Amino acid sequence: MIEVIALDADDTLWHSESRFHETQLRLSEILDRHAPHEEVQAHLHELEVRNIKLFGFGIKGFTLSMVEAAIEISRGQITAEEIHEIVMMGKAMLEMPMELLDGVEDTLEEIGHHYPLVLITKGDHMDQYNKIEKSGLAGHFREIEVVLKKDAAAYAEVFTRHGTDPAGVMMVGNSIPSDILPILELGGHGVYIPYHVTASFERHDEEPDSPRYHRLDSIQALPALLRNQ
Ligand SMILES: [Mg+2]
Repeated sequence: MIEVIALDADDTLWHSESRFHETQLRLSEILDRHAPHEEVQAHLHELEVRNIKLFGFGIKGFTLSMVEAAIEISRGQITAEEIHEIVMMGKAMLEMPMELLDGVEDTLEEIGHHYPLVLITKGDHMDQYNKIEKSGLAGHFREIEVVLKKDAAAYAEVFTRHGTDPAGVMMVGNSIPSDILPILELGGHGVYIPYHVTASFERHDEEPDSPRYHRLDSIQALPALLRNQ
């Protein structure tokens, strides 16, 4: 019995990872004369993973990791002008308007008539709250939660606070490790909607084998899935 629908935000409600991807490509171009593109991407990824513990997930941390990567890859040869460009790329990402995925607004409107909706997103608080505000979607949600990690303990803490039994939660998102596995572990339902770019640290090879696991091509198929529950 589904009682609450929880939704992820980045790459579930609005485009996010494709922007990181475009910025990374531009960084590779800036560092062209110092290293091949693949090497830049690999080094940046390594730094991002290492820095997540210190910076958390978000554009500011990503920008600092890009600067660090540029200095290391160029062995200190990167110019102040180029570092300035990298910082400006990060600022441009922070200032971009939100671009919603197809059908998000209509879908939230429709399912919101039947279920309370909760937004659960991971990352830098300022960054995430800015995006939520810019998206214009906040009014659809009964609760909005910005968490540092998306594991079973974090979800359990959120739902305990809401007085919600996780077994009655359907969590919808684009990351199997962050959005799907923890809620399945807590006895709830997970709806995986893949996005065309997956962050390197959200990649997962296998899909879960559970009757409470669902996969959809688009959020627009969510109302039909709910009608069949
Ligand atoms: Mg996401």
